Amino acid sequence: MEVLYKSTRSDIAPVKASQAILKGLSEDGGLFVPDRIPALDKSLSELSKMTYGEVAYEVMKLFLTDFTEEELKNCINKAYDSKFDTEEIAPLVEADGAYYLELFHGATIAFKDMALSILPHLLITSAKKNDVKNEIVILTATSGDTGKAALAGFAGVEGTKIIVFYPKNGVSPIQEKQMVTQKGDNTHVVGIHGNFDDAQTGVKTLFNDKELAKEMEEAGFQFSSANSINIGRLVPQIVYYVYSYAKLMAEGEIKEGEVINVVVPTGNFGNILAAYYAKNMGLPIGKLICASNDNKVLYDFFKTGTYDRNREFVLTTSPSMDILISSNLERLIYRIAGESSEKNAELMGALTGEGKYTITEDMKALLDDFYGNYASEKETAEVIKALYEQCGYVIDTHTAVAASVYGKYKEDTEDETKTVIASTASPFKFTRSVMEAIDTKYSSMGDFELVDELSKIANVSVPNAIEEIRTAPVVHKTVCDRTEMKTVVKDFLGIK
Ligand SMILES: *Cc1c(COP(=O)(O)O)cnc(C)c1O
Repeated sequence: MEVLYKSTRSDIAPVKASQAILKGLSEDGGLFVPDRIPALDKSLSELSKMTYGEVAYEVMKLFLTDFTEEELKNCINKAYDSKFDTEEIAPLVEADGAYYLELFHGATIAFKDMALSILPHLLITSAKKNDVKNEIVILTATSGDTGKAALAGFAGVEGTKIIVFYPKNGVSPIQEKQMVTQKGDNTHVVGIHGNFDDAQTGVKTLFNDKELAKEMEEAGFQFSSANSINIGRLVPQIVYYVYSYAKLMAEGEIKEGEVINVVVPTGNFGNILAAYYAKNMGLPIGKLICASNDNKVLYDFFKTGTYDRNREFVLTTSPSMDILISSNLERLIYRIAGESSEKNAELMGALTGEGKYTITEDMKALLDDFYGNYASEKETAEVIKALYEQCGYVIDTHTAVAASVYGKYKEDTEDETKTVIASTASPFKFTRSVMEAIDTKYSSMGDFELVDELSKIANVSVPNAIEEIRTAPVVHKTVCDRTEMKTVVKDFLGIK
């Protein structure tokens, strides 16, 4: 049965999956959502015998219903190949009573590779299917990890250009170095004076700029998005929850049908929404544990029913979660509003206008699947140190936020259900924060000295992604104000 994609903000005509992938965002400013969430049509025991690529096909075919089997398998094979440093693609590691689902074995050692390795192929396929002749310009705001993962995914892909905006002082030194050294004639990287929300709002404004769209069309370009609002990113993220469950079954850790919990370190709400979709497809997930850092908008939301972005933006050691507007939450709001685009549009209007909204008691009752909590900077560092000292296992700062919140969840609820923690970045990506958490003596060491030291103490070899940037020259030097973003884009594209 065909799945179509409708907007969360109005009742305009639904589009096919390939069209939703091409557009990224609906014309009315809403996000695309599937008109129904399909049920898994393979049993869990069948899935438990499959490779990552095979599970990917079984999940994605149910959502991307206008792709042929050949098209979809072709995209999957191109994405989940030797770019990943393990054939398992997403291995599970048991440590201190939880299963860490390592989503960082791709090209840029963060979980965004899971979706961004396949998005360019889904996009090119979608363009062909819809007779698109324009060159596709990927416009992306990043809090650090999306940028590099998108750049790596799109670099050199014919028929595409990519422009990435990041907050100049809001990403880690290694994240910045990874981006500004990106090779490929079709890539552009720009630092902006402001935080991630400024970058994201700026990108959204460009997407909705009708005049710019017309100028682009005349010059043979059209925008698309690689941000986690694109369903071409959301759908591939559902896969690893299904895969992790299947793997726990295959390894005899759980019985078929046994309920598990998942903990997700959350920023833009894309990753945890994928887990929610997996649950709605029939995967036996109990609680979806939403972990935030000091930017705890989501924790407050789950507690009070009020989403309020009017607060100080805090820079933390988990910068990819330093977000006050979690864009993908809109898809959940739409769902708990009974799929009413009118009600959702009203709440999103309040978010834009007053910076906050409150959901009704009825809506709040539908959030029972979720548990929200947060970890302070101190708690995050403590959990890194404790896990290392107890198990010799080193996790990154984002994963540590999740691990800390998992501890709070168990204390609050005494729920001992087996639990998968989404491990979203390699500790090598946030080496300084990780090493300083383990021992303050590391503060005096240089960035790459720390990399080598981490490799030693964790007994893990330095990932390729890090080796590459040791000596790579900086090739992207543009920095601008938020108000200059449009001019910068037009410059890159040669539009006057
Ligand atoms: C992007 C990111 C997150 C947050 O994921 P969302 O889907 O935006 O909630 C968490 N950890 C890391 C390392 C990330 O890169």
